[in-house]
Amino acid sequence: MFLRGFKHLIRFSLLTLLIAGLSGCRGQSTAKNVTSTSQSQSKTVKSLKKAKKSPYAGWHHVKTVKLPILMYHSISSGNALKVPASEFKAQMTYLKQQHYRTLTTTQAVYALSHHRLPQAKVVWVTLDDSYTDNKTAAWPILKANHQHATINFITGFATHHNHLTLADARQMKASGAIDFQSHTVRHLDLNELTDQQQLTELTNSKRWLDQHLHQNTAVICYPAGRANQATIKAAKQAGYQYALSTAPGIATSQEPAYNLTRQRVTPGMSLATFATLLH
Ligand SMILES: [Zn+2]
Repeated sequence: MFLRGFKHLIRFSLLTLLIAGLSGCRGQSTAKNVTSTSQSQSKTVKSLKKAKKSPYAGWHHVKTVKLPILMYHSISSGNALKVPASEFKAQMTYLKQQHYRTLTTTQAVYALSHHRLPQAKVVWVTLDDSYTDNKTAAWPILKANHQHATINFITGFATHHNHLTLADARQMKASGAIDFQSHTVRHLDLNELTDQQQLTELTNSKRWLDQHLHQNTAVICYPAGRANQATIKAAKQAGYQYALSTAPGIATSQEPAYNLTRQRVTPGMSLATFATLLH
């Protein structure tokens, strides 16, 4: 008797467990369906929001993009390559007053490669050699004016005195006012190196910036503008989309991508002369 009753109990318990298990499964799968529906709905909402927020919405097509690329180095005084902070400030303020939009590297690359502009007055501010005064003198001015500049960083100098460190670069990039592109590892005249040495300089500096700043570095700035045919080949092979030279002129979407001309800003330049660099 007792044994039979026990068997019944076991059978009943198993049945109960089975039913509970089945309904549990059903319950879970229903819950999953609800979740996946709400997930797909939120995905649709997100993609709609994304489409609305396209960073290039409103950019218009132009036959030839003309982009003045200003070239600075140190923001201090002492020689022909150094522009004093007071002059840099006056020039950035002039750009702001004249309603020039200071493009980021990503925007400049998009503008040149897609023949599109957000507005007629655009400029790309670049500073070569990653000097510490770019942080102490230029960065505060750019932030105050809500403007942007690109620093062409010498990756092998990140531990050198008077040069920006990786921590500086990360801090400045996070502000949104500065981005960093490559100015090679050692700042050597590329045209005097072997093809392989050139490729190493270009590849290693890009890898350093890509890894440390979590980006896809698109631009190489040739030290002292020195480059030859092998440099261009190496720049392409290393994965750069554009290269900056020191040859004067306003860059356009018609000129070779690996030899963009720039407008040099020199110390003591009047605002009237500065204005001529823009058009
Ligand atoms: Zn340089």
